[in-house]
Amino acid sequence: PVATEAPAKLIIDLEALAQVSAERAGPLARYAATIQSQRGDYNGKVLSIRQEDLRTLAVIYDTSAGQLADELVGWGVLDPAARRGIPDNQ
Ligand code: C2E
Ligand code: C2E
Ligand code: C2E
Repeated sequence: PVATEAPAKLIIDLEALAQVSAERAGPLARYAATIQSQRGDYNGKVLSIRQEDLRTLAVIYDTSAGQLADELVGWGVLDPAARRGIPDNQ
C-alpha cells in the first residue's frame, strides 16, 4: 500500500514505563530521560518521540521497530493505534 497518512504519533506513557521491570525497560527509560533532558521537558506523564527514535531503539533492543512496538503495547506503554502505522519488518 502507498503511505498516504502520517503514522499515529508515538507517545510513551512514562508512568506505565516506570512499572516495567528495569531489566527490560532500562534502555528505553534511559533514552526517554535523555530526550526529556534535551527538551527541558521534565514534568510530563507522557513523552512524544520521533519515529526515527523507535528505529534507533529497535537496534538497541536487537529487534525490529514493529516487534519493539508490539512489546511496548504489551507493557501498556504505547497505544495500539500507534502500532498500526509501523511496518513489521523495519
Ligand atoms: P534539534 O533536533 O536541532 O531541534 C531543535 C529544536 O527544533 C527543538 O528544540 C524543537 O524546538 C524543534 N523541533 C525539532 N523537531 C521537532 C519536532 O518533530 N516537533 C517539534 N514540536 N519540535 C521540533 P528542543 O525541543 O529544545 O530539543 C533540543 C534538541 O534535543 C534537539 O535539537 C535534538 O537534538 C534533541 N531532541 C529533542 N527531542 C528529541 C527526540 O525526541 N529525539 C531525538 N533523537 N532528539 C531529540
Ligand atoms: P497531542 O500531541 O495529542 O498531545 C496531547 C497531550 O499529551 C498534550 O497536551 C500533553 O499534555 C501531552 N503530551 C504529548 N506529548 C508530550 C510530550 O512530549 N511531553 C509532554 N510533557 N507532554 C506531552 P497539550 O500540551 O495541551 O497539547 C495539546 C495538543 O496541542 C497536542 O495534542 C498537539 O496536537 C498540540 N501540540 C502541543 N505541543 C505541540 C508541539 O510541540 N508540536 C505540535 N505539532 N503540536 C503540539
Ligand atoms: P510534531 O511536533 O507534531 O511533529 C510531527 C512530525 O513533523 C515529526 O514527526 C517530523 O516528521 C515533522 N517535524 C516537525 N518539526 C520538525 C522539525 O523541526 N524538523 C524536522 N526535520 N521535522 C519536523 P517525528 O519526527 O516522528 O516526531 C514526532 C513527535 O515527537 C513530534 O510531533 C513532537 O511531538 C515530538 N518531537 C520530536 N522531536 C522533537 C524535538 O526536538 N523537540 C520537541 N519538543 N518535540 C519533539
